[in-house]
Amino acid sequence: MQELEICEIFYSLQGESGYMGMPCIFVRLAGCNLRCRFCDTTYSHAPGKMMSFEQILVEIATYPAKVVELTGGEPLWQEACPALMEVLLQKGYKVLLETNGAMYIDEVPREVVKILDVKCPGSGEGGSFQKANLKLMAPWDELKFVLTGFHDYQYAKSFVREHKLEGRVLHFSPVTNMLPAELLAEWLLRDGLQVKLSLQLHKLLNLR
Ligand code: SF4
Repeated sequence: MQELEICEIFYSLQGESGYMGMPCIFVRLAGCNLRCRFCDTTYSHAPGKMMSFEQILVEIATYPAKVVELTGGEPLWQEACPALMEVLLQKGYKVLLETNGAMYIDEVPREVVKILDVKCPGSGEGGSFQKANLKLMAPWDELKFVLTGFHDYQYAKSFVREHKLEGRVLHFSPVTNMLPAELLAEWLLRDGLQVKLSLQLHKLLNLR
């Protein structure tokens, strides 16, 4: 029987991707291989509750949405995670995966919408992104850069240009209380980058 260590399962609006605003069931897996300075989910680093796939599916089915996001922590840190995604796809769910980019996505089913972080220097985990993931991404997958300030912005801009990523769905997201969104908007307008300023909708609406 396959199982995963779960931090929490909850229902909210998707807050920070191309699916922003959509009702979504979140499965937050416990544990993370990184320690970002601005982490807002440190509680997910603590041991979670072991749940079988069946128990997870029963809980998911209590909510009305057909979109499920696996998040963390770092979901891919647990080996059984891709198998759960496969089961969810077979059951007809749209599946999103939020991953920190430091784990290979080669085992993730192609149909899953993968939202990969590229950690910038201000996170304290700069350089953790597995560049091989760029070749593994499907056209519908997305990249997210969480920015603490101008140095991170310059890093993200160079990364996008160096890897010829314009044309993909790219999110530049300011860390709350570190980089004012208005300032990031000015930089984006000045440079005309083909990226999206991404704010965390769930926090603006005081949702989970
Ligand atoms: S990868 Fe995500 S969960 Fe892990 S430390 Fe960084 S922000 Fe927190």
